[in-house]
Amino acid sequence: MAQDRKKVLVLGAGYAGLQTITKLQKQISADEAEVTLINKNDYHYEATWLHEASAGTISYEDLLYPVESVVNKDKVNFVKAEVTKIDRNAKKVETDAGIFDYDILVVSLGFETETFGIKGMKDHAFQIENVLTARKLSRHIEDKFANYASSKQKDDKDLAIIVGGAGFTGVEFLGELTDRIPELCNKYGVEQGKVKITCVEAAPKMLPMFSDELVNHAVSYLEDKGVEFKIGTPIVAANEKGFVVKVNDEEQQLEANTVVWAAGVRGSQLMEESFEGVKRGRIVTKQDLTIEGYDDVFAIGDVSAFIPAGEERPLPTTAQIAMQQGEQTAKNIKNILEGQPTQEFEYVDRGTVCSLGSNDGVGVVYGKDIQGKKAAFMKKVIDTRAVYKLGGVGLAFKKGKF
Ligand SMILES: Cc1cc2nc3c(=O)[nH]c(=O)nc-3n(C[C@H](O)[C@H](O)[C@H](O)COP(=O)(O)OP(=O)(O)OC[C@H]3O[C@@H](n4cnc5c(N)ncnc54)[C@H](O)[C@@H]3O)c2cc1C
Repeated sequence: MAQDRKKVLVLGAGYAGLQTITKLQKQISADEAEVTLINKNDYHYEATWLHEASAGTISYEDLLYPVESVVNKDKVNFVKAEVTKIDRNAKKVETDAGIFDYDILVVSLGFETETFGIKGMKDHAFQIENVLTARKLSRHIEDKFANYASSKQKDDKDLAIIVGGAGFTGVEFLGELTDRIPELCNKYGVEQGKVKITCVEAAPKMLPMFSDELVNHAVSYLEDKGVEFKIGTPIVAANEKGFVVKVNDEEQQLEANTVVWAAGVRGSQLMEESFEGVKRGRIVTKQDLTIEGYDDVFAIGDVSAFIPAGEERPLPTTAQIAMQQGEQTAKNIKNILEGQPTQEFEYVDRGTVCSLGSNDGVGVVYGKDIQGKKAAFMKKVIDTRAVYKLGGVGLAFKKGKF
């Protein structure tokens, strides 16, 4: 019996992979399949809270919980390993802990920073990418305040922070900074007026997914808290002094001792190395979330480009979509195991909320614009719901935001 069990391999324990696992383990018995989950860390982290840990308004530890705390060990084998190669034709996955073969594969390796080849960006700018980058950035910001406070010859650049990108991540990070800076000023006896936060954005509009009214609310809220916006200003390089930007075809050096790149993500590099037709780490999937020509390979979350039937553009990359795709994939795996046809994925858009620190925000929920404290409250509901969906009531009490 055990030899007939199909091998199901899930790569990545982010929102997409972990949702697949937590749903699948409820739907199958231990005899039905040999399920393995591979993740490079032994923890799952709330990627949607990375801006908070990066600014230091929460600790990086608040983002984490052990993968094994939500996995049913009788049905799922968890392996902490880094995937190094996917061989779709040999049906094998190579990792730093050995080679795994599969009958059904779920690729959910998530996102990485995309710097669009901007010179010096990888070396000189901080990223908002994972737990380690968050810990590094929040410590660096505090170190600069401590250095300023303790130096005889004060360097104003220690109190200057430049954020590249006024999209979702950039704005959420700016919001957290405006919460964090007063705390740091208090702690290190720094006059708040000396702190300079600048946001540089190449596009003519920030937060393109929201109405002008919501964008205006976000801009005036952040400007009131001291953020200066330079919109329509592309960053052309990063160096040891800060960012180089282009204004009226001329290059200008913006100086700061903290520069943060928050303007681009892509799917995992492994996607290009493993599949054809991949753009920026994302592969177009069929309606059931499998890959053309490979009915046994699902690509979900940020590595997938799902184009809803009748539409032309793929859905954006969000945790909300990743989790819904995980749910559908668990159902489809169950169908395959039972010899039934797979079903198409249908996305239900419940809305999006962009936080502006912990007390304000802007968003669209079930088609309605919301802003201010109401949006901040909804954001906490959404964040807590995501924890609940993966880890149940116990984890929501422990990690949730109420
Ligand atoms: C600051 C910020 C705020 C955001 N806010 C929101 C929001 O409000 N709402 C929303 O819906 N979305 C938001 N997003 C987007 C959301 O976080 C992503 O869309 C989501 O994380 C994608 O989920 P995923 O499971 O595909 O990938 P990930 O969450 O990236 O998970 C991938 C997992 O795979 C692991 N992994 C990667 N490579 C390997 C490897 N080679 N071997 C083994 N394991 C590997 C990673 O460690 C990780 O555990 C935000 C993103 C950021 C950065």
